[in-house]
Amino acid sequence: MELTEYIGSLKTPCYYYDIALLRKTLETVTGELKKYKDYQVHYAIKANANPVLLKLIASYGLGADCVSGNEIQRAIECGFPPEKIVYAGVGKSDWEIETALNNNIFCFNCESVPEIEIINEIAARMNKKARIALRINPNIDAHTHQYITTGTEESKFGIYIYDIEKVIALLKTCNSLELIGLHFHVGSQITEMEVFQKLSETANDIQQQLAKEEIELGHINFGGGLGIDYQSPYNEPIADFANYFATFADYFEQQAGQKVHFELGRAIIAHCGDLISKVLYVKESRTKKFAVLDAGMNDLLRPALYQAFHKIENISSDKPEEIYDVVGPICESSDFFGKNIRMNAVSRGDIVVVHTAGAYGETMSSRYNLRELPLSYFSE
Ligand SMILES: *Cc1c(COP(=O)(O)O)cnc(C)c1O
Repeated sequence: MELTEYIGSLKTPCYYYDIALLRKTLETVTGELKKYKDYQVHYAIKANANPVLLKLIASYGLGADCVSGNEIQRAIECGFPPEKIVYAGVGKSDWEIETALNNNIFCFNCESVPEIEIINEIAARMNKKARIALRINPNIDAHTHQYITTGTEESKFGIYIYDIEKVIALLKTCNSLELIGLHFHVGSQITEMEVFQKLSETANDIQQQLAKEEIELGHINFGGGLGIDYQSPYNEPIADFANYFATFADYFEQQAGQKVHFELGRAIIAHCGDLISKVLYVKESRTKKFAVLDAGMNDLLRPALYQAFHKIENISSDKPEEIYDVVGPICESSDFFGKNIRMNAVSRGDIVVVHTAGAYGETMSSRYNLRELPLSYFSE
């Protein structure tokens, strides 16, 4: 069966994942990693936690970056070894901390003084030692949408750079903690490599400062954030991993024996997923044509949440192009996938593909309006 025909036969709305592309992406990532000593990627589970995809990603030897207790459990169920699991988040509940300790994960990425105190307390009670890294907020602007900027002083994330000394002093009193590294994550969909250059230079400074106090850092974790091309999904289906890792190799002063970690989500999984929907109605006002889809913001929230752009295509028609607002059925004005979108003239029943929806698509889906969760299908 031809791909278009196959996609047309799926129950919509649904996600369709191109497994061959995911494999190729993972081969590219692991190939690039091999060029450097002790570079390692932890896949950010929150980008897409579908078990089929997670099992495949784990099979390439990647670790997992988790932001909740359930993500830790899902990662382990899908084959990520606990010694390759890291756990970040500004609000870790006690049971989540216990889950992480019970599973002996590699590292907690700690985001505040009170969190450090609680992890120390819980670890002491459980007779365990928690390995921690300090998530530093380096006050670097990621030049991306404000809702996915995380590394500036205005944001809730991380330990503010001017508090490091205070935290180091605190750690001397925490007998159930072991400081093993530093962590950063300054934002997502970052396309300017200068941001990662700046981040490397900031890490160099902090590392030097801590070396004076004889604090050795076994690893530095630079988080994720590598941006991708949402405009032309067919041109650049694999992110520029080569340039990304090379930027850190050029600017970060890796110490002897030190490991360098990354937490990529979007760049690994976004391109391999599309949201597939059917046109329910074409509705016209005096000024606009609306293509009303059977998919809504509950299936893919990114346009409503971040004003995100997704390429939209009508794969059922080769009629001349017209201009549409592509909207969903949900009772919210922000329930649209794109405005003034040019696509082949649409009729009821046509299949409309919202491209590059593999990251932060399915994981953010909800049952708002009591709709069903979107299904998922795989190319193999
Ligand atoms: C979301 C997140 C990531 C992944 O970001 P991408 O932009 O998808 O690469 C990595 N680390 C942390 C701590 C995160 O919160």
